[in-house]
Amino acid sequence: MSDSVKTLCPYCGVGCGLEVSPPAQRNQATNRASDGTPIWKVRGDRAHPSSQGMVCVKGATVTESIGRDRLLHPMMRESLDQPFRQVSWDEAFTQIVDRIQTVKATYGADAICMYGSGQFATEDYYVAQKLMKGCLGTNNFDANSRLCMSSAVSGYIQSFGADGPPCCYDDLELTDCAFLIGTNTAECHPIVYNRLRKHHKQNRHVKLVVVDPRRTPTAEDADLHLAIKPGTDIDLLNGMAHLLLRWGYYDPEFIEDCTQGFSKFAKIIRLYPPSVVAQRCGISVKDLETAAHLWGKAKRVLSLWSMGINQSSEGTAKVRTLINLHLMTGQVGKPGAGPFSLTGQPNAMGGREAGGLSHLLPGYRSVLNPQHRAEVEHVWNVPSHQISPVPGRTAWDMITGLETGDVQMLWIAATNPAVSLPDLERTKAALRKSPFTVYQEAYYPTETAAFAHLLLPATQWSEKSGTMTNSERRVTLCPAFQRPRGDVKEDWAIFAEVGRRLGFEQQFAFTTSAEVHAEFVQLTRDRPCDMTGMSHDRLQREGPLQWPCPDSEPAPLGEAKPAAKRLYTDVRFHTPDGRARFGAYHSRGLAEPPDDQYPYVLTTGRLYGHWHTQTRTGRTDKIRQMHPNPFIEIHPRDAKKLGIENDGWVEVRSRRGFARFPAKVTKAIAPGTVFVPMHWGSLWADQAEANALTHPESCPDSLQPELKACAVQLILVSAELDSQNAFRRELSLSSPPIS
Ligand code: SF4
Repeated sequence: MSDSVKTLCPYCGVGCGLEVSPPAQRNQATNRASDGTPIWKVRGDRAHPSSQGMVCVKGATVTESIGRDRLLHPMMRESLDQPFRQVSWDEAFTQIVDRIQTVKATYGADAICMYGSGQFATEDYYVAQKLMKGCLGTNNFDANSRLCMSSAVSGYIQSFGADGPPCCYDDLELTDCAFLIGTNTAECHPIVYNRLRKHHKQNRHVKLVVVDPRRTPTAEDADLHLAIKPGTDIDLLNGMAHLLLRWGYYDPEFIEDCTQGFSKFAKIIRLYPPSVVAQRCGISVKDLETAAHLWGKAKRVLSLWSMGINQSSEGTAKVRTLINLHLMTGQVGKPGAGPFSLTGQPNAMGGREAGGLSHLLPGYRSVLNPQHRAEVEHVWNVPSHQISPVPGRTAWDMITGLETGDVQMLWIAATNPAVSLPDLERTKAALRKSPFTVYQEAYYPTETAAFAHLLLPATQWSEKSGTMTNSERRVTLCPAFQRPRGDVKEDWAIFAEVGRRLGFEQQFAFTTSAEVHAEFVQLTRDRPCDMTGMSHDRLQREGPLQWPCPDSEPAPLGEAKPAAKRLYTDVRFHTPDGRARFGAYHSRGLAEPPDDQYPYVLTTGRLYGHWHTQTRTGRTDKIRQMHPNPFIEIHPRDAKKLGIENDGWVEVRSRRGFARFPAKVTKAIAPGTVFVPMHWGSLWADQAEANALTHPESCPDSLQPELKACAVQLILVSAELDSQNAFRRELSLSSPPIS
């Protein structure tokens, strides 16, 4: 393996280490992508501390997708009904710069928006922030992380004074009680789950509690599965807190020395007696009491959560209510304990560090803080007050801005909003109205390409160097190991060239991503996410490192410095007085509860093999065979009532749209609730888009939409729908034309 390369899996936020190598000479004839390039072999990197050599099906097959359906040249068209024509990069850059200048002069900088992605490397994120927030003077940069984990960000900030998961993956093997809420970890974060499941199986005293309306593969392994009604998480958590307080399972010293706001919280939880909570949540009092006992008796409690908590109109309140349990029992800042948010995208964490949401600036700074703005303006060498003090548009605000005409130019990169945003018909109608949309992407076609005026071909993982941070704050360098296809360019290099052409030559004089990284880490100095001790060279030499990693304390070779493993080991938090904050909340329930007209709750989620909107996994044979078609899970009682049989077709209608799926009749889903996977856009199936049904109501703090739940009605479809015809479409059927 002398020619092997160590890198990071570019799929999910677990961030597994991979070792890739070119196929042996004798296999090169067979192991080739559709563009003729050899498909590299993948195996888990045993030396990577996060994954220890493990890899799931997505990581194991990732190189298969690199050579398929690539966008190779810039393409342009005047209007959406015209075919694309190939243009040079020079013409593409001229178009973008002219458009930016015209829109800025006519409507102001806030009429320009960029929607980026947790698939970016940190360097891509950073240069995009500098271009939008520093040089154009608008904070209208948001990323698909808004849909994924922005409630975790606001929850951590409000409770601890700063973002950043305080735990590490070693805690999975040190905990006595793992409390998983709103996360199907077994399917969505498989290698995190492998580590936890092994620990759970090998140690009888270790308890696994899973809170999820579905009996997922994760729930199958649980000692206690609480199948609560959708939207009752806060009731459950307050009910558990009530019992912990009543039974004396709390840590008065920790509460006294390290927190603020307990008395207000204690008043609230007194209103959550077990009988009321059990009834609201749809569980038994006994199960509620068991959950509180398991938490209260454990020496080390680790909670894990992801989209089931974050994608909610009260996502921040849910995160803080969960953190309250850790604060009242002193379960934070020690091995095997703490509130651990699992990120979805591979570099959602890097996006947070680089300021990649519309209210953030690099180094865990906020656009609302004048000192933060001044510090960033100084490093960027832009005039004082160049950075706007007003948070920019979120992903959904960009859609409403297109509707009203306030957004005149939209630049989308490395994401697929024509599948992943809520209320898809409305989203698509708004995208159709866009006066000028630039779409920067590695693949063609995608659903979003149909709404673009200018397509920019981007390098794919394996063709570019950059860093990514996983859920445990571990930064891995992903080096380029394949020659870029066609005319593709790195995302950061595209942003930098536009910056130079706009007159910011000095600000965008980068020639390599290592130079970008070196400037970025300077903006993390003395911040919670201090990475000044990292560089591309050091990461290449020593392997992945966790932050905080200041340059004042170089870590021993190959290791994060011990303090970096966990945050808050000194139980001092990033608030002005060093104390964590309790947040006291009552549940408001679902933004759109079921009613007589729409009597079922639809919940959406992910499957083991597919990734997001299938841009890559849909192009991987093994994964398509594993999950060929979408479906709807429905409880036998509901199915019987509606005359629905297994594999029978069901039309699902919400107030916004409809979709059709074959039924999977199963007790894995609670009566009154149905489940649909979110992976299928119009490219891969007809009328099977989960987000045709969802609504955009969002959390008032994190502005993350409630993609997890909406009210629907179910109708038995008698028309003869043939799944072969409905789902096995050729990609070209949906592709916008290219001349
Ligand atoms: Fe990749 Fe996530 Fe699977 Fe690890 S668990 S191999 S990071 S998709």
